[in-house]
Amino acid sequence: MGAFNTVWAEAACPTCGARQLFAVQFKYGDTWQIEYRIGDRLRWGGNDKGVRARKVVVEGFGGPCSECKGGGFEFDLLVEDNILRRVAALGLSRDDAMPEGYRVVEP
Ligand SMILES: [Zn+2]
Repeated sequence: MGAFNTVWAEAACPTCGARQLFAVQFKYGDTWQIEYRIGDRLRWGGNDKGVRARKVVVEGFGGPCSECKGGGFEFDLLVEDNILRRVAALGLSRDDAMPEGYRVVEP
């Protein structure tokens, strides 16, 4: 079992649409059970995963939904200038596989 970080973020459930706070797990930056909120700056300099870039999409995983109990869901986390900007719930699977757990959009 590997270490991961968590960002608490409001998002709509992909199944029933209910907005709620999801705990979304991801592995990027210093990865050591760190808890973040949207707007937080990512920490580096420990158990680092990935490389820093201006704009990155990070794979996240969260759920289940508090209303319909569906999940877990795949999430996209947008990181700009090392700040957690947005979270989007995708659904039960993703179209774009991310073998490394993140994708650089702008270096
Ligand atoms: Zn739901």
